Amino acid sequence: MVSSKVSSKNDDKWGVIGHRSVVSYLQKNLSNNTVASAYLFTGQEGLGKNTVIEKFLAALMCQSHKDPIQSCQSCAICKQVNGRVHPDVNWLEPEENKSISVAEVRDLRSRLGQTALLNSYAVAVISQTSLLSEAAANALLKIIEEPKGKTIFLLATDKPALLPRTISSRCQVLQFQPVAKKIIFDYLIAQGFTEDKSNQIADLSAGLPGQTIKYSQDGLLFEEVMSEVSQFIDLWELSPGKRVGSIERILADAGRDFAAKSNWLKNHLPIWLGVARDIMLTQNGQSSLVSNSFESGRILNLAKLWSSRQTLSLINKCQQAHINLLTNASPNLVAANVMLSV
Ligand SMILES: [Zn+2]
Repeated sequence: MVSSKVSSKNDDKWGVIGHRSVVSYLQKNLSNNTVASAYLFTGQEGLGKNTVIEKFLAALMCQSHKDPIQSCQSCAICKQVNGRVHPDVNWLEPEENKSISVAEVRDLRSRLGQTALLNSYAVAVISQTSLLSEAAANALLKIIEEPKGKTIFLLATDKPALLPRTISSRCQVLQFQPVAKKIIFDYLIAQGFTEDKSNQIADLSAGLPGQTIKYSQDGLLFEEVMSEVSQFIDLWELSPGKRVGSIERILADAGRDFAAKSNWLKNHLPIWLGVARDIMLTQNGQSSLVSNSFESGRILNLAKLWSSRQTLSLINKCQQAHINLLTNASPNLVAANVMLSV
């Protein structure tokens, strides 16, 4: 198993933020011609698994032969791979809110079989293997067990525990870890951001380069998230009764119907959880790790005011709220429950 924990610099040719050891492992496989038949990329969403898959795939398929570890980005093959229209690269992605069916995996098998007759790589990319149905996972296992020709599987998941061991044990497992703040900070400085801004974005990214890219490209989004963090902290400066009234008004502004309110809450729970974690870190003497550092003063106030037990209660209620929303619980009730957790 390769872990990205010891990532240090961004000078890997692929321009990936962090994940140095994973990237260098894959590049060695390419330059030594020891590409494995199956890789499993694991780690939470936003770490950059798909970015690394795309860079690896492009280098693998590129026909310019200028550099074994880097795609040229200009040959016809590179254009096809980037546009996801290369006939030998099969992306298996489910339709929205659907699982991947056994029929889709069988279809993949027949497409891979056709390519394998030619003397080129046939690649299957499944970026959300947790969406494979049980039967689909079994069908996939059969294809991985009996690879034909130069078939390569690139699988990714944020829930590795859900993938059958029989599949993961046949893969080179590449584990993605949160990226150190310093690496994200250096990336932002190289992009031309000021030190202050780089610090704020790096903190708010919480180790997720996917967030860094979003915040650095969309200043409005960044300002919006900051104001939502502040709005959440505002609530904890009110009495419990006023807090509940206030969140009800915020939800009413978010939309009239149940679904709009529920979606608003689903999108905001990660922000709330981030603040709760910051309070916990501050209580544990790790305030240098807080992600919402621009609010560190008010976070410190809450950390002093609450017991660790109270902070933990808020964290638990936020996590429970997410589960309750998935089972169609009333967003007003779910939000009030969080507001009364301390
Ligand atoms: Zn190329």
